[in-house]
Amino acid sequence: MKQVITADPNCEDDYDDASLTCDDALARILERVKPVTATEVLPVREALGRTLARPIVSPIDVPSHRNSAMDGYAVRTSDLPGTGSLKRLRVIGSAFAGKPFPGTVSEDEAVRIMTGAVVPPETNVVIMQEQVEIDGTDIVVDDRHKDGQNVRAAGEDIKRDTAVLKPGRVIGPADLGLIASLGFGTAEVYRRVRVAFLSTGDELRGVGEQLAPGEIYDSNRYTLHGMLTRLGIDIIDLGVVADNRDAVRNALNSAASQADVVISSGGVSVGEADYIKEILREVGQVGFWKVAMKPGRPLAFGHIGDAVFFGLPGNPVSVMVTFYQFVQPSLLKVMGAEQAPSLLIKAAAGNVLKKRPGRVEYQRGFLTMGSDGRAVVHTEADQGSGILSSMSNANCFVVLPMDGGRVETGAAVDVQPFFGIM
Ligand code: AMP
Ligand code: MG
Repeated sequence: MKQVITADPNCEDDYDDASLTCDDALARILERVKPVTATEVLPVREALGRTLARPIVSPIDVPSHRNSAMDGYAVRTSDLPGTGSLKRLRVIGSAFAGKPFPGTVSEDEAVRIMTGAVVPPETNVVIMQEQVEIDGTDIVVDDRHKDGQNVRAAGEDIKRDTAVLKPGRVIGPADLGLIASLGFGTAEVYRRVRVAFLSTGDELRGVGEQLAPGEIYDSNRYTLHGMLTRLGIDIIDLGVVADNRDAVRNALNSAASQADVVISSGGVSVGEADYIKEILREVGQVGFWKVAMKPGRPLAFGHIGDAVFFGLPGNPVSVMVTFYQFVQPSLLKVMGAEQAPSLLIKAAAGNVLKKRPGRVEYQRGFLTMGSDGRAVVHTEADQGSGILSSMSNANCFVVLPMDGGRVETGAAVDVQPFFGIM
């Protein structure tokens, strides 16, 4: 009789009916996370990286007055010479930025004007100083000028009463300047989100410790520290938790009591350390999902008390991939931030990309501009989920669709640049 081994679903499987697609997994997660509601008012500079909670409505026109875009001469429209002729104008004074010309500009007169200075109300043209001929206190202008040229309208940048920034905006450097340009010294933002995280595994040691055979240094808490800090999260690093029930139970309960979101890494693989599942069922409502992606198929998600819980896989690359694909969008939602549309761009594969149909793959790549001026992406040779250097060397994910197989050199692929997410 022929003997066969029937294996449980495992990491080497391609298609797996029980798997969720990445999109479904993300949608389910986003449905279950809630934004924070508490807000605080901060001095503008301190609002950098925070999420705006109230719209910024402009109380003024910006710029507040018509002003010159050039150094030159302000001239009345009716004084522009006709085609083929010249016009002589008397310069009767000057307008500087912050120091308007105090008089009235009559026919046959001009005012010397600097960039940013109020354009005298009688005039509607600024002629660049390089385009006039100076003759004593007069200037001579020719016929090449148009009404309205080099005059910036009041409110050209921002009109009074418009909402220039909306709630959900993650405040960047330009926004700080924009808020200040309206005269506001403070902004109301959502409170910071707190995330507690921990690593699980008996094999994990901290930096500075000696490694016994079979042990490794814990790197996941460092990548998590980096990814969370970049998002402006308040972090609570709970260290390494040994693979034993009491330690895991205590750590998870303590994490959930201190934080909005709890993240663990390790211990969610199929068959591995089943007690973690038991404990999660005991302390919260947590589902164990298989997501049709590579790396990072096993993912635990749910709630412990009031905290949202993510159980990420242990492999260092899987941690980063699942963080960027699921945790980061969720944290943005908790922060009250609008979701930035995910930026995928097309690039030509610079080498063959090995892949089997069945899962979306996030391969680590390096995007450059090819000699033909088009984007080309080369992938790291070793795509193993434990090869953290493949993330460190990369500047993008090459996102290969679920049903696709091997990709030949030169074929177009979707690339998610790190600058859009990190
Ligand atoms: P696990 O999901 O716990 O089975 O871990 C999968 C793989 O990731 C194993 O090779 C672990 O040793 C490794 N791993 C788990 N946690 C960490 C960590 N914090 N830092 C580095 N490697 C880890
Ligand atoms: Mg483990």
